[in-house]
Amino acid sequence: MTTMPLPASEWPTLEPGWVWLCGAGPGDPGLLTLHALNALRQADVVIYDALVQEAILDWAPQAEHIYAGKRGGKPSAKQRDISLRLVDLARSGKRVLRLKGGDPFVFGRGGEEAQTLVQHGVPIRIIPGISAGIGGLAYAGIPVTHRDVNQSVTFVTGHDQSGNTPSSLDWHGIARGSQVIVIYMGMKHAAQISAQLIAAGRSAGEPVAVVTTATTADQQVMETTLGQLDADIKASNLEPPAIICIGQAVRMRDVLDWQAQAAGIPPVNLDPLDRGRPAESA
Ligand code: SAH
Repeated sequence: MTTMPLPASEWPTLEPGWVWLCGAGPGDPGLLTLHALNALRQADVVIYDALVQEAILDWAPQAEHIYAGKRGGKPSAKQRDISLRLVDLARSGKRVLRLKGGDPFVFGRGGEEAQTLVQHGVPIRIIPGISAGIGGLAYAGIPVTHRDVNQSVTFVTGHDQSGNTPSSLDWHGIARGSQVIVIYMGMKHAAQISAQLIAAGRSAGEPVAVVTTATTADQQVMETTLGQLDADIKASNLEPPAIICIGQAVRMRDVLDWQAQAAGIPPVNLDPLDRGRPAESA
């Protein structure tokens, strides 16, 4: 493994009969970890999800590539079937790489797959990845925490198992307790989510960013407000996958939209939170 920064002998070996459950990051292949690359180079089989960029599979030319996501309007493979397929492949002596978008343990059902594998006696390794709610926002110029804005951040899924807005979530608690809210899978239920947050006391004027296909060449960012979120999504041509970020951190895009800057567009505002001004006397 000449291009890896350590000698090949120091990298873990993907042994036959093992499954490595691995995050592929949010899209840009450069956001893979070195452990992921090491795994791709050793696998006999790569089972990957819809959100994994095909270019990443080019690093595993020796492996069989099995798609385990939604395609052409067909329903996605059942979770239980995927887990059991991993068990079968491992038992047949394959080196199995299960590749999932972002981080396997963030809204990715990686915990369920890993549990099934362990329950069937299949040895596993977990390789974390950069989650879209962190890395995707960074590519949009939004720091998920920023000292002047937030001391906490809440990651929320906009869907529950039935496909509805999660009814078990304490939206009032989230609205009160978390200055920045990052929503995965939130496009469909954006109207309900914003209404619940506003009802719980968040300002309708609060800044919101919707980031789609983050970190890929197709990345789009729409800035709006909590009150306008649903209408603006509907009026846009934006499609999932999308991360929705709610909170003042979004304003930092005015200075940190590094991709726009790299394309020659100067920053809109060098001090969007006005922290550079002398503090007003009391
Ligand atoms: N395990 C993944 C999340 C899987 S759930 C992770 O850690 O990122 C799928 C949801 O993730 C999508 O509906 C979307 O909300 C978000 N997502 C994943 N990749 C994304 C991307 N490149 N851009 C925007 N959102 C993304």
